[in-house]
Amino acid sequence: MARAELTPMVAANLLDYDEVCRTFSWDAATSELDLPGGRWNIAHEAVDRHVGAGRGHQTAMRWLPRRGESEDITYSELADRMARFVGVLQGLGYPSGARVATVLGRIPELYVGVLGALKAGGVVAPLFAAFGPEPLRQRLALGSFEVLLTTPLNYERKIMPIRPDVPSLRYVLLVGEDVDEDERAGVLDVRRLMAEATPVVTTAATGPEDPALLHFTSGTTGTPKAALHVHQAVLAHHITGSLVLDLHPGDRFWCTADPGWVTGTSYGIVSPLTNAVTSIIDEADFEVDRWYRTLQDERIDVWYTAPTALRMLMRIGAEVASGYDLSNLRLVASVGEPLNPEVVRWAHATFGVPILDNWWQTETGGIMVANFRAVPVKAGSMGMPVPGIEVAVVGADADTGEVDVDERGEPIEGADAGATGQLAIRSGWPSMFRAYLGNEERYRRCFVGSWYLSGDLVHRDADGYLWFVGRSDDVIKSAGHLIGPFEVESVLIEHPAVAEAAVYGLPNPVAGDIVAAQVVLADGHRDDEALRSDIVAFARRRLGTVAAPRELTVTAALPKTRSGKIMRRLLRARALGLPEGDLSTLETST
Ligand code: ATP
Ligand code: MG
Repeated sequence: MARAELTPMVAANLLDYDEVCRTFSWDAATSELDLPGGRWNIAHEAVDRHVGAGRGHQTAMRWLPRRGESEDITYSELADRMARFVGVLQGLGYPSGARVATVLGRIPELYVGVLGALKAGGVVAPLFAAFGPEPLRQRLALGSFEVLLTTPLNYERKIMPIRPDVPSLRYVLLVGEDVDEDERAGVLDVRRLMAEATPVVTTAATGPEDPALLHFTSGTTGTPKAALHVHQAVLAHHITGSLVLDLHPGDRFWCTADPGWVTGTSYGIVSPLTNAVTSIIDEADFEVDRWYRTLQDERIDVWYTAPTALRMLMRIGAEVASGYDLSNLRLVASVGEPLNPEVVRWAHATFGVPILDNWWQTETGGIMVANFRAVPVKAGSMGMPVPGIEVAVVGADADTGEVDVDERGEPIEGADAGATGQLAIRSGWPSMFRAYLGNEERYRRCFVGSWYLSGDLVHRDADGYLWFVGRSDDVIKSAGHLIGPFEVESVLIEHPAVAEAAVYGLPNPVAGDIVAAQVVLADGHRDDEALRSDIVAFARRRLGTVAAPRELTVTAALPKTRSGKIMRRLLRARALGLPEGDLSTLETST
């Protein structure tokens, strides 16, 4: 049966991109939120407003535990659990919210804790549960967290040893069976507290500029930064969920990112709920059959995932996918790294829908540049600015990297279509970060005139599509040419023997830099001299001699951040015998 017959077509939320861009304003978009009494609170917009509007019976989350039966939580139940968590915080002596961190896997308590802390008016940071004690110490101390939600095992192994270094931490609320409480140390059983708490249904009277979420960057460039976001961000979360991810009330939506990363919070917690969908939450990590089974059995309508996962699925092959019925999928979106054209083509053929790449950062809080359902996809392009977002491609001094500015101190936009420059965003969008905690100076340096500088290089084609070239630190200057690693990597993975590739520059006395590559081979291929030469020759034919790798090595796996991004700078450091640096070290001014 043809796909269209299986999936009744749902009209896209954004039908005419140009028209929506012309008429869109963030002020007018606030009418899509509830904002009772002019108050802004993410948790209210995500949960309570739906209960007030009579949608409380709808399933907000379907939780898939690692093993065993799934659990459905309605919007009403979520609202009740949130209210109880506010009661818990008040009972502990925080009448207007606390600074709350979580170190939990993807279990319901994580979502209740984050939303409850927001409802209470506090600031919350969901920390990645696989971090060891040192990265946790740094993050907890930097944010002066007062309450931590975690498991007994995490507490014992990772928090107890560092607790003396985090004097702000008064309470550790443990999630688990048979929790050993220690009142003097503030170690309490959160399930007991929740059961005994008086629910507080009133939401804190937070305003648009009140701090809400603290997110740490991935640390791809070696130094994670702590980006602070405010309640107003919910407007961007909501609108982008609607216009880019095309969420419709009642959709079944799966965001595979962990809430320890910004994607897993903005689009794994907030946006799906404000858009009244059913969010599928899988406790388990990536596993090919489980993922295909989840797409099929949960009848996922909209799937938001990452290039690293798509590349892994591609590596396993389309035959595995053909064993599953994926016909329900209406939209697949990707973020986090450039999405190679080869992957776009493979995924389109495999899933039956185009893969919509989109671009944003921890600092931007929400999607800034995207492909849309109603706009043709150009494989390899990250798309066009989201309505309400103004971008510029700005030039920089070739030697210093300083952005060129005019007499008013505003960056100068690259005049020509196709010119590579830094992606800048007109500051002031709702989900813009408001600080790098502990590093004001670095925050100030991100802004030039009225623009935020992203640190990523792009070019814009004549149709207005943006193409990612590379991070400004990662681009390779070779024999007078600027080479973006992404372009070279994308060609390399088109070679049938190459599953993944990372490209970086190595200093060379003549050329400035030469292009070096490390590749992971696809299943069934063996590393030998002939294969390596063949891959290099293939790249030369496609890219020419300047951009093709001069050095190519085969490796079993590429180094990646915890959030799954290739760390090109680490490969370069290793190749040069430089110190790798402590990649968990936070960047602060102190
Ligand atoms: P750090 O700032 O600590 O070095 P990071 O930049 O990887 O880490 P994130 O904020 O998680 O931390 O990632 C944002 C970056 O990811 C972007 O600046 C960009 O370089 C890359 N990125 C995200 N989405 C895309 C995309 N669709 N195409 C290309 N690059 C992307
Ligand atoms: Mg970054």
